[in-house]
Amino acid sequence: MLHRLLAVLGSDLAIDLGTANTLVSVVGAGLVLNEPSIVAVEEGTNRVLSGGCAVGHLAKQMQGRTPQSISVVRPMTGGVIADFELCEAMLRYFIRKAGAAGFRVKPRVLVAVPGCITPVEKRAVYNSTQRAGARQVLVMSEAKAAAIGAGLNVTEPVASMICDIGGGTTEVAVLSLGDIVAQQSVRVAGDAMDRAIVDYLRRHYNLRIGSSAAERLRIEIGSAYPLEDELSDEVRGVDMISGLPRKATITSEEVREALGTPLLEIVEAVKATLDQCGTDLASDLVDNGLVLAGGGSLLRSLDRFLAEQTGLPTRVCADPLTAVARGTHICLEHFDRWRGAMQSSDEDV
Ligand code: ADP
Ligand code: MG
Repeated sequence: MLHRLLAVLGSDLAIDLGTANTLVSVVGAGLVLNEPSIVAVEEGTNRVLSGGCAVGHLAKQMQGRTPQSISVVRPMTGGVIADFELCEAMLRYFIRKAGAAGFRVKPRVLVAVPGCITPVEKRAVYNSTQRAGARQVLVMSEAKAAAIGAGLNVTEPVASMICDIGGGTTEVAVLSLGDIVAQQSVRVAGDAMDRAIVDYLRRHYNLRIGSSAAERLRIEIGSAYPLEDELSDEVRGVDMISGLPRKATITSEEVREALGTPLLEIVEAVKATLDQCGTDLASDLVDNGLVLAGGGSLLRSLDRFLAEQTGLPTRVCADPLTAVARGTHICLEHFDRWRGAMQSSDEDV
């Protein structure tokens, strides 16, 4: 009875708490917030600037251009909470912003979490979300949310396969009859690709560049497979010998070479997931193929590269950056149908 009353009065919220971006949707209203998972704090403290509001877009504007007294940090690393207090501050801000219309009671909140999460890390998600203003916290696997959001028929008795490449982790899963039958979660995604680019420029150009410059190169000219018309781009950094700032022109071939190792690690994760499947499920995938989600899947020709490496037909889902958010939203909207896909802080002890 009390539960039903709360459900009527309160709003339910789904959060895709990503390493790179946080997306919040509200049942009945859809996606209401999509911001970078970053906060700006007073250097050496956990005090979020602007009275707790230097979060997301606002903090992003400060990134790389802050005086020494300010640092811009990402509370999430490799798909999990790296800084407990800051994650809570970020969630509090996002939950409040999403509820601008005014929650009459604290919301029930569903959070998507990586498959590789440890019990301690999951507990941190429960606690941070609860302290940030949730009445009840539920979690579900990001891979399952991405598959549902991508529109895969996960409840059918046939296999479907999803690979969600985000900023911190790549989640690969094969689903059938509503459940995950095989999965791999590796801490290789957009951030690891950027580290590989930083490393490449250091080794081949004696040039030190920041991670946001590396990300820009990857988005502007990065690819997984040779391009018909190869591209090039200018990058600015600091010469490692003279210590002076300078520019260099980098080609898409070079970026592709830099991305070689992280891309092969993603291929290995897909193959390892296939290895866990029985023959029947694996053979379903010959037709159903591999579906890519997450911002990392927007790398040029990644679908073609994965198709060639795995032998499976591969495609990127529509709007890959919001697939997990759409999936969690569907689960909350059809709560009774998807209850089994979620775990609650109350029962998970
Ligand atoms: P997370 O779930 O970890 O927050 P997202 O699914 O939001 O990650 O994806 C973020 C990643 O997507 C970042 O590494 C970003 O660089 C990458 N990304 C976003 N847009 C593009 C693009 N157009 N091309 C390549 N990568 C992109
Ligand atoms: Mg994600």
